[in-house]
Amino acid sequence: MSTVVVGAGQAGAQVAATLRKDGYDKPITLIGNEPEPPYHRPPLSKAFLLGSAGETALHLRDESFYRDNAIELRLGTWVTGIDRSAKEVRLVGATLAYEHLVLATGARPRPLAVPGADFDGVLPLRSLADARELRERMASARSVVIVGGGFIGLEFAAVAAAEGREVTLLEVGERLMGRSVTEQVSRYFADAHVDRGVRVRLGTGVVEFLGRRGDVTGVRATDGQTHAADLVVTGVGVVPNSELADQAGLAVNNGILVDTSLRTADPRIHAIGDCARFLSAHLTVPVRLESVQNAVDQAGHAGRRIATGEARPYRELPCFWSDQKGIKLQIAGLSTGYDHVQLLGDPAGGRFSTLAFRSGRLVAVESVGRPAEHMAARRLLSSGRELTPVRAAAPDFDLKTFTADTAGLTA
Ligand SMILES: Cc1cc2nc3c(=O)[nH]c(=O)nc-3n(C[C@H](O)[C@H](O)[C@H](O)COP(=O)(O)OP(=O)(O)OC[C@H]3O[C@@H](n4cnc5c(N)ncnc54)[C@H](O)[C@@H]3O)c2cc1C
Repeated sequence: MSTVVVGAGQAGAQVAATLRKDGYDKPITLIGNEPEPPYHRPPLSKAFLLGSAGETALHLRDESFYRDNAIELRLGTWVTGIDRSAKEVRLVGATLAYEHLVLATGARPRPLAVPGADFDGVLPLRSLADARELRERMASARSVVIVGGGFIGLEFAAVAAAEGREVTLLEVGERLMGRSVTEQVSRYFADAHVDRGVRVRLGTGVVEFLGRRGDVTGVRATDGQTHAADLVVTGVGVVPNSELADQAGLAVNNGILVDTSLRTADPRIHAIGDCARFLSAHLTVPVRLESVQNAVDQAGHAGRRIATGEARPYRELPCFWSDQKGIKLQIAGLSTGYDHVQLLGDPAGGRFSTLAFRSGRLVAVESVGRPAEHMAARRLLSSGRELTPVRAAAPDFDLKTFTADTAGLTA
């Protein structure tokens, strides 16, 4: 009997590594449908696009790691079904028995359902194959339109503008990264991108893509304008890969539903990373998070649980980062539902943090160019110690000192 991991991405590779680190001595099979060994996705919208990171540098671990740790890596292989009563997964032409099954299937780009979305040159950005194609097309592109002002769209916009392309970014919402950050941070990034020459159009969606002989030539937007484009990047969110769980009769609702220990209703099946929707200790409603930290921490938790039987709830603080060509945003916590923001520092100088409160409780800290403050925020939010909006607004308030005092590190 063995542990089978479906999805050889960030979370899948980490759960296999944790199982071995924590003493699991039965067979482990890590199955991924992509042809490459597990790799880092964040550089795909940053250094890799710029050509400053090669493909081997993207690999999460050397191939020898899987060999040395007796982790059987099956690449280019789709898992097509789960038979829960037989405790088997189905591959094309084969089945594989499991004692424990970990679903780490990630997510795929949300398709944009508008006419012309199938023209050549309209592309998403999720995989290494996508990034290779985008890098190649960007080399000869003059005008780039980005649909979606979330992290990936903005990171791509920053790179394209730095490479001298004419860049237009359309965001249907009224602000950038609207699902993930406070208004103050949205505004700061909108100004920064405009300063770098990106034409940011808020409250603007796509009516249709225009094309000639199958190639995209432009985008007709909901504000009536037409934007020329020989490359369009769509970054309008993702859809979790939850079909396997659904077909196996497990609960699915915007992700595979798991309990506080990341287990599905079937005690032999965990789900982790981008595909899992879980009850976070930091929110009152189930949430699905898309970040490296979440994938790695959840993998560590599930791996430890399977290897050692340890049964404590998952409580890690959610953290995110985004690097938009030199402007680094770090987020600790979840600002969802915030009702008050305290600003620390000076956005005009490019170094500040925002403290987001919900009902008088600190729920998230966003830092731009202030890594030490981000680290302090992680410690503070993880400690559970209270910081009131009044205390945070005091002229002498310093987050690092307050956190160090909290930890009893200073007098
Ligand atoms: C361009 C880009 C930039 C990003 N930048 C950042 C960043 O700056 N900071 C940050 O924190 N996060 C970033 N992220 C998000 C982060 O990479 C993801 O949250 C993380 O990769 C999630 O890991 P995962 O293992 O859950 O999913 P994935 O890494 O997507 O891995 C899932 C794997 O499972 C495979 N799979 C799915 N179904 C099957 C099946 N049936 N059979 C076999 N294999 C299957 C998928 O093809 C995929 O290879 C970025 C993501 C992208 C795309």
